[in-house]
Amino acid sequence: MKNLTDKVILVTGASRGIGAAIARALAAAGAKVIVNYAGSQQAADQTVSEITSHGGEAIAIRADVSSAADVKTLFDTTIALYGKIDVLVNNAGIMITKLLKDTTDEDFTRQFDINVRGTFNTMREAATRLSDKGSIINFSSSVNRIMLPTYSTYVATKAAVEQLTRVFSKEVGARGLNVNSISPGPTNTELFTKGKPQEVIDKLSSLSAFNRIGEPDDIAKIVVFLASDEAKWINAQNIGANGGMA
Ligand code: NAP
Repeated sequence: MKNLTDKVILVTGASRGIGAAIARALAAAGAKVIVNYAGSQQAADQTVSEITSHGGEAIAIRADVSSAADVKTLFDTTIALYGKIDVLVNNAGIMITKLLKDTTDEDFTRQFDINVRGTFNTMREAATRLSDKGSIINFSSSVNRIMLPTYSTYVATKAAVEQLTRVFSKEVGARGLNVNSISPGPTNTELFTKGKPQEVIDKLSSLSAFNRIGEPDDIAKIVVFLASDEAKWINAQNIGANGGMA
């Protein structure tokens, strides 16, 4: 269904993982997609070529979301190319899992800089530069609902994202923007699987009602809906996307 035709959609962190699946799904629904990346240029180019080879429209633009200057340039370049941005998907994120006692100042700063400051930077630009009646979809995590040792700073960043989402929705509602966050459960990407023994993956799979972890496409389908005009009345919510994880 091409329900996103004519929409220009910026997806942060779309070179790999969930973001790349989101970019492909949005383009398949008719959107023009900006595939943002920080370091993985080859993967971003690959995502773009997968989209264009299926008749979609996409372009890769490098920007480190933790840098306000990079994010401003990202908005400048996109608007110069396409004339507008209708939807912002704040997918870029990192996860550093360590016991709190072992977490360094650098770990703490890096995790907050990318996950929280990154979301803040793009929303600050979006406040005045996203098209009226646009949509913002931020990324939290369903691990906020459980108490997993080693996840403390990660879930702290995601709790901050949820609160930024709620208050910001009230600040931009007058322009018709809706702002939500999505909370995937464990999902089959490098961020989740890297360095994890199979028994840990199996244990986390068993937390979902379907006894499996999510696939990036499971999340992408929900983002396509949230980016559409049909989802406009959903505002200031955090949407669990986790197969009934508890
Ligand atoms: P991933 O496979 O590690 O991919 C992360 C993406 O973020 C990459 O495209 C990466 O781009 C980009 N990125 C990292 N730092 C960036 C920066 N400073 N500026 C711009 N882009 C940056 O991760 P994922 O699993 O797809 O996660 C996507 C989002 O879902 C994250 O917000 C994550 O917290 C959230 N999430 C994931 C899971 C899960 O189980 N996978 C569960 C809940 C929530 P480069 O490679 O180009 O740097």
